Formats: sequence, C-alpha cells, structure tokens
Amino acid sequence: MSKDKQTIDAPELLQRLERMARLMRADGHAGGLNPVQWEALRYLSRCNRFSNSPIALAKYLGSTKGTVSQTVKSLEKKELAVKATREGERRSVSLTLTDKGHAALGDDPTAELLKTLDALGGKTRRRLAKGLQDILNAETQRRRMQEFGTCPDCRFFREKTGESYYCMHFDAALAEKETSLICVTHLSR
Ligand code: SF4
Repeated sequence: MSKDKQTIDAPELLQRLERMARLMRADGHAGGLNPVQWEALRYLSRCNRFSNSPIALAKYLGSTKGTVSQTVKSLEKKELAVKATREGERRSVSLTLTDKGHAALGDDPTAELLKTLDALGGKTRRRLAKGLQDILNAETQRRRMQEFGTCPDCRFFREKTGESYYCMHFDAALAEKETSLICVTHLSR
C-alpha cells in the first residue's frame, strides 16, 4: 500500500506533532532570547490593536499573568518592546514592538521552517492548515481557552462591497490590513 493511502493512527500523529514541537523548541534558543520570548515577539508583530495587551499575550501563550510579566520585563530590558497606557483608558496597557524588536524578527529562528512550509505545495498547505486548525479548535475548546484568529471567519466581522470592513464586537471600522491580524476576541462563525 502506498504511504499516502496508509491509515495513520492518532499515536503516530501525536509522535509527529511531539517531534516537531521539540525541534521548534530546540531552535528557539537563539539571539539571546528563549522560545517564549520569540513567541511573544512574533505575536506582538501579528496581533491587532485590540489584542496587544499583557493579558491577551498571556492568553495566547497559555501562561499565567506572573509568567508573562517576566517575559514582558525581559523584552523591555532588551529594548525589544515597550509598555504604554492606552489613550483614554488609564487602566489598560498596550505592548508595542520597538524598531529594535521589529529588526530582531529578521533573525527569527523559525525562518528556515518558514522556507520548508513555503516549499510545500498549495494543496498540502491548505490541508495542513485545515487539520492543524481543527486540532487547535478542539483543544482550545476543551481547555476553555481563547480561540484567537483573524477577521474573515469571525462572527463579528462585516464586509461591505469588499472595501469597507467593520467589527461588531468593538463597534469599530477596520482597515483592510487589520483584517489579517490575530485577534484575542475572535469567535468562529
Ligand atoms: S471582527 Fe472578530 S477578529 Fe476582527 S477585530 Fe472584531 S472580534 Fe476581532
């Protein structure tokens, strides 16, 4: 039987996921940062303006506030990110990457893995994305964690004539480029 027709059971899938996670973690100690600090940098470079808070970051990483506070302090100390009070919201804090933080992402240790993913055919990438999303949805629901996702498949998203975009949850107009950013309040349709 050819390999692609062979049934793959759950333990075999788990073994592949586990090995991949191990390889990614091993690569994550680079440029003076640890894997969690890299994940935080990547998240802050891809999240929307409603999701760049320490609380949202903690939810994304599945960490406690205390652990994330240590990660944020390290990024601030290395001048990769800055904390600020949101305009008009004294008790709300935003986290933003500095120029140095954006530049650091140029040496992201996942760059080689990105090339490997790029080299997969479009069909394989779509199937992989669907499978991984199904697993993520099931696991985040089981753990009662936030989904995280982007606007196009969010139930709060409204699109008018392909030019104007709106978020019903935040009651805010969205720029087109914002619709592909990660959001903490995303809810699948
Ligand atoms: S439409 Fe959904 S994903 Fe987009 S900003 Fe609003 S809540 Fe977030």
